[in-house]
Amino acid sequence: MSKIILTGDRPTGRLHVGHYVGSLRRRVELQNSGEFDKIFIMIADAQALTDNADNPEKIRQNVVEVALDYLSVGLDPEKSNLFVQSQISELTELTFFYSNLVTVSRLQRNPTVKAEIQMRNFEASIPVGFFTYPISQAADITAFKATTVPVGEDQMPMIEQTREIVRKFNSVYGETLVEPDILLPDNQACMRLPGTDGKAKMSKSLGNCIYLSDTEEDVRAKVMSMYTDPDHIKITDPGKLEGNTVFTYLDAFSKPEHFPEFLPDYNNLDELKEHYQRGGLGDVKVKKFLNNVLQSELAPIRARRAEFEKDIPEVYNILKKGSDAAREVAAETLADVKRAMKINYFEDMALIKEQSEKYSR
Ligand code: ATP
Ligand code: MG
Repeated sequence: MSKIILTGDRPTGRLHVGHYVGSLRRRVELQNSGEFDKIFIMIADAQALTDNADNPEKIRQNVVEVALDYLSVGLDPEKSNLFVQSQISELTELTFFYSNLVTVSRLQRNPTVKAEIQMRNFEASIPVGFFTYPISQAADITAFKATTVPVGEDQMPMIEQTREIVRKFNSVYGETLVEPDILLPDNQACMRLPGTDGKAKMSKSLGNCIYLSDTEEDVRAKVMSMYTDPDHIKITDPGKLEGNTVFTYLDAFSKPEHFPEFLPDYNNLDELKEHYQRGGLGDVKVKKFLNNVLQSELAPIRARRAEFEKDIPEVYNILKKGSDAAREVAAETLADVKRAMKINYFEDMALIKEQSEKYSR
């Protein structure tokens, strides 16, 4: 069986370092590994509209921002198909058919939907489209017969729900859809990178982000004001690592080679952590190190972005070409689905024959 990736992001803002460690960095590695037959990367504008219906301009502006972020981290349109969800109308047809296989109570139990409803203060006024977005996500994944979905931990319940829909569809209509596997980051800190405020996960909707496109100065200012251990007041005080955002970011970003380069007094992160816990190591020193680590990772990304920003029409052209190609693949799956559901009346010769015999008797 071919190995196929589908993943994507909502164009609700520029992408941040949480996306980078949770999904983007891995995507680029997988893309360059040559192990996958096809890679589909989707800008989920239709999904973003489910909770931004009254602000379509925000989504419209951010499609190209997300595309620029993709190109700047090294997603290569020659190897990965970059496309825009709303341009693939087959996805909405699949969503419509799959909705018959899912109950309202099952959607209500989906932990991601629950958490996001709470975060957005929707209470009783949840848009139907938002409530049912796990179904449309199942359509996105299955339309491309994806075997692998590299995403952050918050997406686990979504993939589980997709797998249930696939199993239900295949058991009712016969083996048609492919059950996908989730591919989580291998490092705990990357699963759900917290925001710079130390609260919840870094999320465009919460304004606690370091963006991939932030300037060097923005990144430095955000790092220097980051949440640490509130009880670590004097340098000599012992410090805590749990919930200490600066150390969580070091877990996510630092590499062994950063120590000789930026902090030669320590051999590795374990030594730095040990000193912090013992006392005698100030937050400012650790933050300066984190700033150097982040700058070295983000500088090449920023430079590549600046190149792509010079030719915006070409960025739209890449998305158009990707969307045209994605549409062909989704149309094949939709045809398979209709055939399995036996709603392909005009090509179903057996049905036509059966009906005509019924009336010629
Ligand atoms: P929104 O607030 O609009 O939902 P978001 O910041 O949560 O935006 P999404 O577009 O919903 O971003 O998520 C895109 C991908 O990035 C998903 O795979 C998600 O798991 C991953 N991701 C998002 N935030 C983080 C994070 N803080 N840590 C790790 N992965 C993340
Ligand atoms: Mg999200």
